[in-house]
Amino acid sequence: MMKKQGYFGIYGGQFVPETLMPNLTELKHAFFSLAKSKNFKKEFYGYLKDYVGRPTPLYFAENLSKKYKLRLYLKREDLCHTGAHKINNAIGQVLLAKKMGKIRVIAETGAGQHGVATATAAALLGLECVIYMGVLDMERQAINVTRMNMLGAKVVGVESGSRTLKDAINEALRDWVTNVRNTHYVLGTVFGPHPYPTMVKEFVSIIGKEAILQIKKKEGVLPDAVIACVGGGSNAMGIFYPFIKYKKVKLIGVEAAGKGIETGLHAARFANGRVGIFQGAKSFVLQDKNGQILNTYSVSAGLDYASIGPEHCYLKDIGRVSYGYAMDNDVIEAFNILSLEEGIIPALESSHALAYLIKHHMDFKDKLVVVNLSGRGDKDLLTVIKYEKG
Ligand SMILES: *Cc1c(COP(=O)(O)O)cnc(C)c1O
Repeated sequence: MMKKQGYFGIYGGQFVPETLMPNLTELKHAFFSLAKSKNFKKEFYGYLKDYVGRPTPLYFAENLSKKYKLRLYLKREDLCHTGAHKINNAIGQVLLAKKMGKIRVIAETGAGQHGVATATAAALLGLECVIYMGVLDMERQAINVTRMNMLGAKVVGVESGSRTLKDAINEALRDWVTNVRNTHYVLGTVFGPHPYPTMVKEFVSIIGKEAILQIKKKEGVLPDAVIACVGGGSNAMGIFYPFIKYKKVKLIGVEAAGKGIETGLHAARFANGRVGIFQGAKSFVLQDKNGQILNTYSVSAGLDYASIGPEHCYLKDIGRVSYGYAMDNDVIEAFNILSLEEGIIPALESSHALAYLIKHHMDFKDKLVVVNLSGRGDKDLLTVIKYEKG
């Protein structure tokens, strides 16, 4: 699928300062040798099974299926240890770091979910862990800061710039350049410079591999459609990737349309972005006419990002995956519907995938559909209460 190593069509690559190239080269070699070895895989899949709790169930949502006249299955990533799919990638990367002889991992986090996953994996595998986080995000996500501290991680507040995610990324990169000898940078999604998009995809594609076996066992056929929300794009890539070769299976990614595309308050890169270079990769980016990165908005922090994994751009170009979006109000409604109808409180990110299905359910009449339920919604209760109060 890649023309050149690290490229997906025209997207991807390694757009980083010279000082970072040795880090990426070392990581690339480690990934393509160590992480491909039998021993690594055995250990990694061992943790996924006994620690994360895989395989996660593929659950037939009977009540929603009746309501919308289709057959809906939910891939229950919300049942992973720590409550979302992110732990799969975090364990993969921290295990690789350990095999590389690193004693320390660093990561950036916005809403805190990737920080918690990385801190968890570091505690499990005995590595030192430092998480960079904008001070504004630390205030908004105080519970996750406490969680990371309890897991033994040091959370460093970043005071520069907008004091949010992108400033935290810059600080983490600075640390990595300085401490590369003993440190691995754990990136949280299928984004950034090569080899990250390829590596993260490999660690999360267990989701789709399981889903194929499970749906074949339950239904005897592959689904008509698979739907997932897309922030950086890892839970979507994780479930889509093993399905790509089955051309009859429609794959649909759902972005955050926030308060509506026309308001500018959204994070729908494919609806309103264009090709640019951002944080190490060529991809779709929300930017103004001078190439300045636009502020994004979504009710769900995990989808609130100005760019998207490069392979998603390629899959869109070749028409293999189609991308839609869901607005906040429909997302909150979907969140409530799943809670009330099935007794499952979903993450607001995952609620985007569900909101898309509900809004377009007539297009899926009598169809077999799998939605990737990327995480659980405990973390979002206050956000929903606040939203509903207006
Ligand atoms: C972080 C997060 C996402 C968005 O990240 P992707 O890389 O696009 O998967 C989606 N769902 C949940 C529950 C998350 O925590």
